[in-house]
Amino acid sequence: MAKVNYSELLREKSRDLRASMSVQSAAQVVTRTERASDEGDLSQQSNEEWIFLNRNRLESKLLREVEEALGRVGTEEYGVCQECGEAISAKRLAAVPWAKYCVTCQDLVSQRRARGEEPEEED
Ligand SMILES: [Zn+2]
Repeated sequence: MAKVNYSELLREKSRDLRASMSVQSAAQVVTRTERASDEGDLSQQSNEEWIFLNRNRLESKLLREVEEALGRVGTEEYGVCQECGEAISAKRLAAVPWAKYCVTCQDLVSQRRARGEEPEEED
């Protein structure tokens, strides 16, 4: 089986996210400038900004996870579930190279978060 270069996959993802985020920031500046001379529909405006901020927040969160994973690549920690200590499957890592948990633990963590038992990670 060919050895996957996770570090390259992670660097690619990091580049994509940064590019996407800077495009969005530029688009937002343009939108704001256009709005300066036009009051527009305020509720629509705040809704658009909420979507933008929320999307940007998710992307910066993902970027941080990708950066963290880059720091783990090449160490014993990389590819090991941080919950149960088992190896994360190669199939999962190929799809989600920044995965911190195996599929089973990811489900458990998500369920605990949904019930409010597990604090969200710091932003
Ligand atoms: Zn696990």
